[in-house]
Amino acid sequence: MNKRTIIASASAPGRGGVSVVRMSGEKSKTIAERMCGELSEPWKFKKCSIMSSGDGVIDSGMVVFFQSPHSYTGEDVVEFHCHGNPMIVSLIVDEAVSLGAVVADPGEFTKTAFLNDKIDLAQAESVADLINAQSKSAVLAANASLSGEFSNKINSLVDEVVRGRVVIEANIDFPEEDIEGDLLNTIKRDLEICLEEVSKLLMGVREGVRLREGYSVAIVGAPNAGKSTLLNVLARDDVAITSNVPGTTRDLVKTVVNIAGVTIEFIDTAGVRSNPDSDIEKEGINRSLNVVQKSNFTLLVKDISDVKDFDIDLGDYITVMNKSDLIDSVPKNEKDIFYLSCATGEGVEDLLRALLARLGVDEGVETAFLSRKRHEVSLEKAKELLKESVVSLVEGQSLELVAENLRSAHHHLGDILRPMSSDDLLGEIFSEFCIGK
Ligand code: GDP
Repeated sequence: MNKRTIIASASAPGRGGVSVVRMSGEKSKTIAERMCGELSEPWKFKKCSIMSSGDGVIDSGMVVFFQSPHSYTGEDVVEFHCHGNPMIVSLIVDEAVSLGAVVADPGEFTKTAFLNDKIDLAQAESVADLINAQSKSAVLAANASLSGEFSNKINSLVDEVVRGRVVIEANIDFPEEDIEGDLLNTIKRDLEICLEEVSKLLMGVREGVRLREGYSVAIVGAPNAGKSTLLNVLARDDVAITSNVPGTTRDLVKTVVNIAGVTIEFIDTAGVRSNPDSDIEKEGINRSLNVVQKSNFTLLVKDISDVKDFDIDLGDYITVMNKSDLIDSVPKNEKDIFYLSCATGEGVEDLLRALLARLGVDEGVETAFLSRKRHEVSLEKAKELLKESVVSLVEGQSLELVAENLRSAHHHLGDILRPMSSDDLLGEIFSEFCIGK
């Protein structure tokens, strides 16, 4: 149990109409009463002068008390609502600290809520995701996770696996012919259904990971084809240096663009040509190929007035025939070839629409949850183990093996909401938070 009484500004730093300072822990009420006089009953705002023992009135504002366990952290919580001035905020924090509170670490309020079982880990993660969400879809999906929709699905999968474990473990010591009639078949059927549900959830989670982390798209092509110009058009800002001297972009330039609610990181790579002039250029080209391998998709840019062959493996890609303004009759787009002009902007929209489709983004469809790689990995492991359990049952292998696989599947699913060995993971997750959350 956390015995610290923690305090921090819950609102963003800077000036504004109102700032909120939040305090949590068993001394909260006493400290707040020293600063604001007697508090109103829980959850009722009280208009008050906020006092510093040395300096008199710091501000006139409001104070509200959330009594344990019905608070964000599960502990006694007090919020001071003061004028939005960083100096006032810091005077309030200093005064509370002089009365026994300590300044909270990043994410400590949410971590306390997790440790006090107010929320599970997936919900705690979604708090950070909600604060960082950059598109409407991301906000809605983070809210769905925060409200527990995702956790409920995981909990019901855990229940199904536990039901299977109980029956299997209870029968481990009996020879198969002594096990009641259709029992093993029933368990096998239940596990198959559970496996289907895990697979379905995994698909949603993969989409949720993409929505949270976004997509990466490499822009490659010969020097001077117009890669940097394309990036600038996409970013609607001058993030890459453009020049008509071949080989200018030797370093990777990245820009993150939000298209139809989807975050896409475009990476402008060095121009790739067969006979690079210098070692620096060769290194740039190696890096470009590396980017292509790590990206979800590639745009190969060519200068329509000077088309060069390109014999490098790009995986999944679209050819962008740039500088269409230089020719009289622009051919029609094909499935993998788009004609456009970065100079006039003609054709860029069509390319983006095709790109979204190729990335598998279903425009207008809301992703159910915002997910993390760690959720995906745990679900994949659970899926694999459930599959093995079903196979073992079909093949009549030992129930001990089935029990062991189900035990591991149970732990992998459980890890998503309440990890067993959690210290490093908790440190990693809560360090992403801002102070005051
Ligand atoms: P990169 O080496 O592939 O990054 O090429 P840049 O983006 O630096 O462009 C090379 C030259 O082509 C620059 O002078 C650009 O202004 C020019 N350029 C880029 N796109 C177009 C286009 O659509 N039409 C025309 N006419 N020129 C373009």
